[in-house]
Amino acid sequence: MALVQPHAQAAPKRITILGSTGSVGCSTIDLIERNPDAFVVEALTAFDNVDLLAQQAIKLNARFAVVADPGKFEALQSALAGTETVAGAGAGALIEAAERPSDLVMAAIVGAAGLAPTLAAVRRGSAIALANKECLVCAGDLMIKEVRARGAVLLPVDSEHNAIFQVFDFERSDSVEKIILTASGGPFLSASRDVMAQATPAQAVNHPNWSMGAKISVDSATMMNKGLELIEAFHLFPVPEDRIDIVIHPQSVVHSLVSYVDGSVLAQMGTPDMRTPISFALAWPERIATPAERLDLAAMGNLTFESPDPGRFPALGLARAALQSGGAGPTILNAANEMAVTAFLNTKIGFLDITRVVEETLEQVPNRPLARLEDVHEADREARATAGAQIDAILQ
Ligand code: NDP
Repeated sequence: MALVQPHAQAAPKRITILGSTGSVGCSTIDLIERNPDAFVVEALTAFDNVDLLAQQAIKLNARFAVVADPGKFEALQSALAGTETVAGAGAGALIEAAERPSDLVMAAIVGAAGLAPTLAAVRRGSAIALANKECLVCAGDLMIKEVRARGAVLLPVDSEHNAIFQVFDFERSDSVEKIILTASGGPFLSASRDVMAQATPAQAVNHPNWSMGAKISVDSATMMNKGLELIEAFHLFPVPEDRIDIVIHPQSVVHSLVSYVDGSVLAQMGTPDMRTPISFALAWPERIATPAERLDLAAMGNLTFESPDPGRFPALGLARAALQSGGAGPTILNAANEMAVTAFLNTKIGFLDITRVVEETLEQVPNRPLARLEDVHEADREARATAGAQIDAILQ
């Protein structure tokens, strides 16, 4: 099965990081710096953060560094002057970064913007450490088809999917009864809808357990993140949607679980530090040491679990319905959510408007089948236009 076949690896591994300047990207760089004999860097990419990108490229002697924003090309070129790193810019250069020979591509761009370069890496038959869940949400069937056709390997980095990957018996998948995704519940786990209505971006990104980029932090606060993860899990693991459960676990210690037909439930646990799942994907099938704080269960005392509240967190129901509807449903959900989260972070709409915009967009944009990548782009464009109109209407 393509998802789990090991590639023969000769150390050091050559790594490309798409989105190296973000939260996952910087944690990946940290691990590479701690293991200089195990990894070398082929290419690094960012959107427009030239200073950090150039600093990373110089420190790690990357061969190629790319800014997605073409307007930043000259700034990057001058920051890299006199070094051996070649500068690139724009959508074509992002694809080139993914296509260059490497043993593993870390896909850590945020949002559907990560789809084209991640797909380019898949088409090269690369091993891919997949953090960018949105590309599986918006084009999951097409991505997995390509993974299988090209013999690529997807190593989940999202902590929940990484946990499942570690305890899922791929050789006997029909002995799996269900997958249980854990959710921290985010900063508004106990907040009323009235409190949520007044939530500011600063409050929404203030996650109790994880330090992450702004977009995923807001997704955690609405719990759309868990909805996106439900769709991601559906594509990564051979388990139907109605056997993927979600449970709230505020301590973020049990990262997810797999339940088997004999009643056994296997979990992967650890302190909430993304360097653990990232290291797993980087070193796979080996393991490397990380500085993540070690789990001290006795000191922790209680681990608690509860059911999510669909009334206060409607994003969960929207995501499940989008997955059930198939076709472009998840693509529309994802595009509308990206638009709404950006509008919220720019203080154009309120916190509760995020899921309203997603719901309205899902109702208005027709759900067509996704036969080709162009169908994904078309659904994504249409959903962004519709969500944009909703946001404008709220602004008036
Ligand atoms: P960040 O916002 O911290 O970083 C995003 C990265 O993508 C940056 O390098 C950014 O460049 C780049 N980027 C942003 N927009 C574009 C674009 N249009 N084209 C090309 N590059 C772009 O995100 P995170 O690291 O938090 O998340 C990355 C992905 O990993 C997301 O899909 C998220 O859901 C997933 N994930 C993240 C976790 C976390 O702990 N952070 C945990 C699990 C999953 P620049 O810096 O120049 O803007």
